[in-house]
Amino acid sequence: MKIILSILFCVSLQMCSPIKPTEKSTSMENSTTKNNPYYSRTDRTKLDVPNSEWKKILDPDLYAVAREANTERPGTGKYNIYDELGDYYCAVCGNHLFRSDAKFSSTCGWPSFFEADKEGTAYKRDSTYGMERTEVLCKRCDSHLGHVFNDGPPPTGTRYCMNSVSLEFVGDSEKSTK
Ligand SMILES: [Zn+2]
Repeated sequence: MKIILSILFCVSLQMCSPIKPTEKSTSMENSTTKNNPYYSRTDRTKLDVPNSEWKKILDPDLYAVAREANTERPGTGKYNIYDELGDYYCAVCGNHLFRSDAKFSSTCGWPSFFEADKEGTAYKRDSTYGMERTEVLCKRCDSHLGHVFNDGPPPTGTRYCMNSVSLEFVGDSEKSTK
C-alpha cells in the first residue's frame, strides 16, 4: 500500500510541476509575430498570403502598419534611436532588409537608412495624402515598411524612412552565440 501511495505521490508531483517551455531560438523571442508559419530568415520565396490570414497572425500594431500602410507616430519606435551592430529583418516574414552600417541618425523621428538590401525591398509609387512619394515594401511578403526619399546622406543620398514596428533587429553578438 505504501508503495502505491508513493507512486501516486510521485505522479501527482509530476503533474503539478510546471510544463517545460518548448525549445525556441532566442531570436524568435524578439519577434512581434508569434506562431507565424511564414516567418523565415533564410527562405526568400515570394509569399502570397491574404490579409485575412495575416490579421490572425500579426499583432494589431504591426498589422496596421505592414498591411494597411499606417505610419507609427514619430519618435515612438524602438529602433528610432538605436545603434547596435546587426541586421534588420521584416517583422512580418523575416526577409533581410537592412544592415546596421547603413543606418544613420536622422531627426525625422523614424529609423533611417541610406541603403537597403536590394533583394529584400521593392518600391511602389504612392500618391496618397496629396504627396508624391515612393513606398518601400518587403519584396517577399509585400508588407509596407515606409518610404524612400532622395535627401539622405552620402554615399547614396537616399533616405529610407522606416517604421520600427515593421522591422526586427538581430544583433551580431546574438548570431555568434548560436
Ligand atoms: Zn516581409
